[in-house]
Amino acid sequence: MSQANRDPWTGEVRPFPRQTDAEVEARLAAAQAAFPAWSGRGINERAVLMHRVAKGLRDARRDLAMTLTAEMGKLRREALAEVEKSAAACDYYADNAARYLQDQAIGTEASRSYVRYAPIGCVLAIMPWNFPVWQVFRFLAPGLMAGNVALLKHATNVPSCADAIAEVLAAAGIPEGVFGVLHIDNEKAADVIADPRVKAVTLTGSERAGRSVASTAGQHLKKCVLELGGSDPFIVLDDADLDATVKVAVASRFGNAGQTCIAAKRFIVTPGIADRFVQAFADAASKLVVGDPNDDASSLAPMARADLRDELHRQVQDSVAKGARVLLGGQPGQGETHYPATILDAVKPGMPAWDEELFGPVASVLRVADEAEAVRVANDTRYGLGASVWTADAARGERVARQIDAGACFVNSLVKSDVRLPFGGTKASGFGRELAEHGMHEFTNIQTIYVA
Ligand code: NDP
Repeated sequence: MSQANRDPWTGEVRPFPRQTDAEVEARLAAAQAAFPAWSGRGINERAVLMHRVAKGLRDARRDLAMTLTAEMGKLRREALAEVEKSAAACDYYADNAARYLQDQAIGTEASRSYVRYAPIGCVLAIMPWNFPVWQVFRFLAPGLMAGNVALLKHATNVPSCADAIAEVLAAAGIPEGVFGVLHIDNEKAADVIADPRVKAVTLTGSERAGRSVASTAGQHLKKCVLELGGSDPFIVLDDADLDATVKVAVASRFGNAGQTCIAAKRFIVTPGIADRFVQAFADAASKLVVGDPNDDASSLAPMARADLRDELHRQVQDSVAKGARVLLGGQPGQGETHYPATILDAVKPGMPAWDEELFGPVASVLRVADEAEAVRVANDTRYGLGASVWTADAARGERVARQIDAGACFVNSLVKSDVRLPFGGTKASGFGRELAEHGMHEFTNIQTIYVA
């Protein structure tokens, strides 16, 4: 079996073979065989190898960036930044894993009682195409440092990114079987989740994929961490610094062609600043033009696939039919993956632009009467991934942030993943955490040791 992927910019079609059952079995067996030795190594030894992976990523960054761009259309400079972020994560977990994993003494009547964080074995990672290198390392760097081994089932449209990651790990000296790539369809992925050699699964992707993977994992009593979609609110209060707010609004919504789970998607504006913000936001966004992602002058990437572009346009058209006003863009570009920077105003409940995740370069403006309504509207979503609040008064921002039902709320800052901070969502954005201490502990046996 083979699949055909299209370069989102050039349209070039590249066939890619799927693995046979025997090849999948070989990777499962290799992971199983590699676990005892890998988990038995000292953490310092694992750290040396993880630093080598970081170096390998940096050395290979140009080739990796080209692969990312060819497979999912990311702007070259964004691809290079993604590779560097991944390398930095390897360095960070190499340097900090021992601290996160050290035994924690807990006082009881015992002579010694404590918690230790023991690795669990092979974790299956099902990853998406939007950050095809970073999303993998967000899981892999802490996961391998914790002593687990991993199998990666990457999104169908980024198979070479998966193989390139495997090559970097192998060249860095990560032993065979510690990391393996599976080129399989979703039906076969369910078999892999069920396999007793796989202990847990982590998925980043759509709500639909999350429901399917969680139900398979549940059937087989396997733990799962789900990082799904988001419709992050970006709350602009009357006293916000207009220039700083607009700059981040544009970067957050239109970076990566808008295909980011923690991108700001719903811009909730209060009356004292609404018109000025919307005007400045539209002026800045109008300067973005879809272009060749390999050309450093390009400011907006094509979308990753034609079907994603078509679905986004359906959501825009449906919202407009229900009364949303197009301030900018709104019509697909010439290429089948091109979509212009688009801003919809007067967005109301019942429109896709209010109710659904818009996974592309389309911003929804939601006008509210005051701060209290801004909080209500921010929480009026099935998602709960990230959020941001913009105000000159940091204490006010913090007060608002604490009322938002989301995994992270940033005040006067771009919502971003950070190796030092836990990352994950509430509601339909999933459950469990990645990164930092909380993420590292997700795939460990939090074992109580009690010595009377
Ligand atoms: P999917 O959720 O389908 O893909 C993400 C990953 O999950 C891929 O590896 C995919 O594999 C896999 N997958 C999908 N269904 C299953 C299943 N039943 N069992 C096992 N694995 C599965 O995303 P799409 O590419 O279809 O994008 C659609 C929407 O998903 C976007 O518009 C966006 O809303 C959301 N999304 C959110 C992301 C995020 O960062 N939170 C990332 C990507 C998408 P395969 O490619 O082989 O189907």
